Amino acid sequence: MNQDYEVAIVGGGHNALVAACYLAKAGKKVIVLEKNQEFGGATKSVYAFEGVGAKLSRYSYLVALLPDQIKQDLDLKFETLSRTVSSYTPSGNTGILINRNFDAESSESITAFTSSNEDSDAWERFYKRIGVVAERLAPTMLEPLKDEVEIKALIGDELWDEFVVQPLEVTLNKYFKNDLVKGIVLTDGLIGTFASAAEILSNICFHYHLVGNGTGEWRVPKGGMGKLVEALLERTKSLGVDLRAGTEVISAETTNDGVMLRLGSGEDLSARVLLSGAAPRVLERLTGIKAPNFRDGSQVKMNMVLKRLPKLKSGLDPKKAFAGTFHIDESFEQLEKAYHQAKSGVIPDVIPSEMYCHTLTDPSILSESMQAAGNHTLTLFALHTPASLFDIDHEKIKVEVFRRILAGLNKYLAEPIEDLILDDAAGKPCIEVKTPQELEAEIDLPRGNIFHSDLMWPWRTQSEQGKWGVETTNDRVFIAGAGAIRGGGVSGIAGHNAAMATLERLAKSN
Ligand SMILES: Cc1cc2nc3c(=O)[nH]c(=O)nc-3n(C[C@H](O)[C@H](O)[C@H](O)COP(=O)(O)OP(=O)(O)OC[C@H]3O[C@@H](n4cnc5c(N)ncnc54)[C@H](O)[C@@H]3O)c2cc1C
Repeated sequence: MNQDYEVAIVGGGHNALVAACYLAKAGKKVIVLEKNQEFGGATKSVYAFEGVGAKLSRYSYLVALLPDQIKQDLDLKFETLSRTVSSYTPSGNTGILINRNFDAESSESITAFTSSNEDSDAWERFYKRIGVVAERLAPTMLEPLKDEVEIKALIGDELWDEFVVQPLEVTLNKYFKNDLVKGIVLTDGLIGTFASAAEILSNICFHYHLVGNGTGEWRVPKGGMGKLVEALLERTKSLGVDLRAGTEVISAETTNDGVMLRLGSGEDLSARVLLSGAAPRVLERLTGIKAPNFRDGSQVKMNMVLKRLPKLKSGLDPKKAFAGTFHIDESFEQLEKAYHQAKSGVIPDVIPSEMYCHTLTDPSILSESMQAAGNHTLTLFALHTPASLFDIDHEKIKVEVFRRILAGLNKYLAEPIEDLILDDAAGKPCIEVKTPQELEAEIDLPRGNIFHSDLMWPWRTQSEQGKWGVETTNDRVFIAGAGAIRGGGVSGIAGHNAAMATLERLAKSN
């Protein structure tokens, strides 16, 4: 049978575009089919507010996991910038400031807050040790999957026990005494993952947040996350990839020599191999290939444009407080309590969240007049707000969750955030709120899960897992999105690995 394409890719998120670039570079005929009118999925930037010159990273907003190797291989014109501050965590009228490089100011801040130098010393020890894990694991991400025995040998028995075997809660309790310090560290185990610190799923999430490029540094995408999509689209076009936006794939059936796709337009299209940049649950709908069970997405994302940054009760300069990640009500106890409340079906009394200001590091996403006026953007990511909470009465719950998130933030501000939100051209406040259900409706993240599925250890944990971590039960179908092993987050890793598996499959005779 003469196929229309060698490879058809369902979904046009950044991973799909990475896969398309590698395959086209290897001379393959590729098409990418995206349901929405624009490519990019969760990496889009948009002008979200009428008449307001602020191009916001609507969904994802910071980059750590994208390997430099992918940028180099594909010659991507995409830059990321360091933040000077890693995090600020207010508490009452004081707080803890951690600079990107853990320096004397950071250490003194923990010491002053905890009235002892034990936790600041522990901080350095802890991050040095997880830093070793990151350095050793990062280079494996674009290689065939290693198995547990190999990874254990790579990172050593002690680090394996500390960060893989023992629940994060146990390791945090071993290192740290202070509840707030423990919470600051724990958040990396919870972003995008509905879990308790007592569950290994939070260890897995923690690894994804600490491993990027061997440093785990979360950097600001210059010009916004959409710049990554622009760079990838430029490359796919120059490589001759067929790109179709506004084209939903509604089913895909494998035959003896290929895959037949049915498009929303009624048109059929054939290929030798199918890649899914869409979530495994979407692939299940299209092909019947069973997706693993996964937990609800559990975050609410808010984007705001401000007249100016708010002053803080602690008196810290807002330019410093908001330059890194601003933690709100994220002590260890608060995080655990919120998790257990949400799990039992109750909206947490206090919703932990975190926030960051893109424009302090990179003002280029604002028009010149907005930069001159001192306007800023804020991005807020609230935790432990799973899709299940919103199932019964979405609009009512959304209003209540929004109210509690703002109340949490306002506790630490010297002036209410509501007074500082800019109005758009129609006089409406520049603030948008996205629940897990809304993420599913807009970009097909099942149950709003930002990683498409539960994160998995970035190595082989079961013998049936394939060579690249992208294989399915059908040897013509591969996962090229966040739902692959090593796939979660803005990384392009799943796209790269799916391309490698596909090239090997295409080299076979049929
Ligand atoms: C609110 C939010 C904040 C986040 N913050 C960060 C962050 O700061 N840093 C980070 O690293 N990660 C972050 N993430 C996670 C990260 O954005 C995602 O894991 C990653 O972008 C997924 O990329 P992808 O290419 O695999 O899939 P996606 O970006 O999900 O793209 C899949 C595409 O498939 C399309 N599609 C689905 N079904 C079909 C169909 N039947 N036919 C055609 N097309 C279809 C969808 O429309 C979508 O465009 C965040 C995610 C969200 C939602």
